[in-house]
Amino acid sequence: MLKLENIVKTYKTSDMEVQALKGISICFRKNEFVSILGPSGCGKTTTLNIIGGLDHYTSGDLVINGISTKSFTDHDWDIYRNHKIGFIFQSYNLIPHENILENVELALIISGESKEQRKEKAKKALDNVGLKGLYNKKPNELSGGQCQRVAIARALVNEPDILLADEPTGALDSATSIFKKISEKKLVIMVTHNPELAEKYSSRIIKLLDGAIISDSNPYSSEDEAKEEKNKSDEEINKEKAKMTWFTAFKLSAKNLWSKAKRTAMTIIAASIGIVGVSAVLSIRGGVTGYIQSMQDEMLSGNPISISSSSFDLT
Ligand code: ADP
Ligand code: MG
Repeated sequence: MLKLENIVKTYKTSDMEVQALKGISICFRKNEFVSILGPSGCGKTTTLNIIGGLDHYTSGDLVINGISTKSFTDHDWDIYRNHKIGFIFQSYNLIPHENILENVELALIISGESKEQRKEKAKKALDNVGLKGLYNKKPNELSGGQCQRVAIARALVNEPDILLADEPTGALDSATSIFKKISEKKLVIMVTHNPELAEKYSSRIIKLLDGAIISDSNPYSSEDEAKEEKNKSDEEINKEKAKMTWFTAFKLSAKNLWSKAKRTAMTIIAASIGIVGVSAVLSIRGGVTGYIQSMQDEMLSGNPISISSSSFDLT
């Protein structure tokens, strides 16, 4: 699903080059809880930022669902970040003068949904992390652990496939157990400096040292992924295929049209103007031609041309 292939990251500063990552290769499962451990400065944040599309690799490749990102444009990266990734930053990055509902809603602004829908979703995300009813509180009115849960809600509100967390601090046990629950359905990658916590909750521990992987407790490869795909029984494949029935597809497109009601209305009006214009021109032309024809017929029948011979004596 997500694969790092020999990722190298070099930071260039004015007087020197730092090779933060020296060739990292990891293949991730669709759903698992991966902890990345290692001493400060070994490249954990750099790895996470590259996976999340916040930073770009110097060489190597990040493969998403079998697609290379080598030729990704800025727009492709935007789409990837906004739809696939939920990011929980080390310092949470909450906006202090907005209440927590607005903080979570902000992650949905670019999704093109209506204000009511955004509020609804943001409330649900906050309820899911146990912050029901605190919607109007500002971040500084909450505890560190609660702020962390706001950050988790904000990361999840877009329903991403991949959740990334950089060294969560504070209420670690509660945050990590939330991550464990989430990893039943999603890929969760957490950077931590706490080995006990990693042991207790995660299903895979990757250790980094000096920009390279030194151990992986539960490795996975593209071959494993291919095998798993093959072993899927026909029934499962059929089930997956049947997931989107015609009805669901219709419902989804109707919902999509409705959610962008203004745009849809404008498209309808513009299309109608076009169609009405064309038919008006056609019918006016038909009408005018018919009118001329009937005028001619009437005039000519009222004034039949008569030809008679006559002669003049010019003398
Ligand atoms: P960790 O998260 O494991 O503590 P980082 O990934 O932040 O480590 O950093 C890895 C290495 O890359 C460090 O040596 C750090 O100094 C260097 N580094 C990180 N970001 C930058 C940057 N923007 N410019 C220059 N060097 C950087
Ligand atoms: Mg770091």
